[in-house]
Amino acid sequence: MKRLLSLVTFFIISSAISQNTDEAQLKSIYDTALTNGKGYDWLNHLSNQIGGRLSGSVQAQQAVDYTKSQLETLVGLDRVWLQPVMVPKWTRGLPEFAYFETEPGITTNVPICALGGSVSTPSIGIKTKVVEVKSLDDLAILGKQRLEGNIVFFNRPMDATEITTFTAYSGCVDQRYSGAAEAAKYGAVGVIVRSMNLRQDDFPHTGSMSYGDTPVKDRIPAAAISTNAADLLSISLSLNPDIKFYFKQNCQQYNDVQSYNVIGEIKGTTNPDEIIVVGGHLDSWDLGDGSHDDGVGCVQSMEVLRLLKETGYKPKRTLRVVLFMNEENGLRGGNKYAEVAKNKNEKHIFALESDAGGFSPRGFTFNCTDANFEKVQSWKSLFEPYLIHLFDRGFSGADIRPLNNDKMVLAGLRPDSQRYFDHHHAANDTFEHVNKRELQLGAATMASLVYLFDNYGIEEN
Ligand SMILES: [Zn+2]
Repeated sequence: MKRLLSLVTFFIISSAISQNTDEAQLKSIYDTALTNGKGYDWLNHLSNQIGGRLSGSVQAQQAVDYTKSQLETLVGLDRVWLQPVMVPKWTRGLPEFAYFETEPGITTNVPICALGGSVSTPSIGIKTKVVEVKSLDDLAILGKQRLEGNIVFFNRPMDATEITTFTAYSGCVDQRYSGAAEAAKYGAVGVIVRSMNLRQDDFPHTGSMSYGDTPVKDRIPAAAISTNAADLLSISLSLNPDIKFYFKQNCQQYNDVQSYNVIGEIKGTTNPDEIIVVGGHLDSWDLGDGSHDDGVGCVQSMEVLRLLKETGYKPKRTLRVVLFMNEENGLRGGNKYAEVAKNKNEKHIFALESDAGGFSPRGFTFNCTDANFEKVQSWKSLFEPYLIHLFDRGFSGADIRPLNNDKMVLAGLRPDSQRYFDHHHAANDTFEHVNKRELQLGAATMASLVYLFDNYGIEEN
């Protein structure tokens, strides 16, 4: 009995000690991030010296060179390397131009931008009647009779009642992604899509689209229109359905080009064969400078390794930062990383992505087994002092998802999402809209979770 008691006492004391150690480690991570962070300076360079980093562009290559050189200057990284990956190259060309004409000669200019991957219009542009729809399903209802030879205007807004704005985005993005492919089936000659933005403003928001199996000769140009202009066009159409819409864009698709994922690594001390990945995507759309999407995720991921080193922590497992190329219009980087990991038989136990903006962190969403989710729940109290409360199941990140197997844990950082879609894929996704403390809090929150998974591992059954 006495022995049992002392054993119980031993466990109580040792778990109290580890709780204290964890609390101290998290405090040290957050303190260092807030007083001596590097992420904001890195982002300043990426955003203001390099700018938008569309796959295959000079700027994307400059971002590869810059982040590699910065990782090489970090004390304590054992290896930094580039992982080659072929990526698509699409260019926007000259600025797009659009207006609608209520009567011959009476025109109103509207802000549009080509969707990523769209074909160009004929060099003189397209001018024809425009038909407003709210969904892909509406196309079948209207049929060829109403759509042939016309421009289809997809105008279903994001649902303002969704608190998680990513859910509202998911509820709308089919118009942008598949609108042109579907409208072409009914003989439409162009597509205009309401920007995926909860705010009323004058910024058109680009984003990827797909022609699916539409033959090249049947592909029709697609552009996004700002929310203000979408509303104006919609009201004008209700007054006069014969309005004509004109737009012109000269984007172009080229052959694939060579690019790279940028990778830095700290070898684990006791379990070097178990790999933990933390990452974001280095490419961005071209309209802004890609600060929130996803310059922030890249510098936060670099910061995770630096913070752990800076606080004197020696990782048991191998920690990797991966800056993925081509998330926006191809996901080639994420797929390549997973393919190489599989070919090398690498064992990844945990992957964490930051690709939801640089706003105040709220928590994480996890893709994992029940046992691991339970484990994560047991860490919640450690995060409470930092106002990190969200530990939910859900989507992790596009770049890390190809790594998934039924054992490992995948997670996504979840910052406050209310303002994210004001900037997402638009010309106002720029450096001045990122707050330094919010960015650094995100990095510290990520580093804390990486520390916990490194220290305690995952449940493998
Ligand atoms: Zn992104």
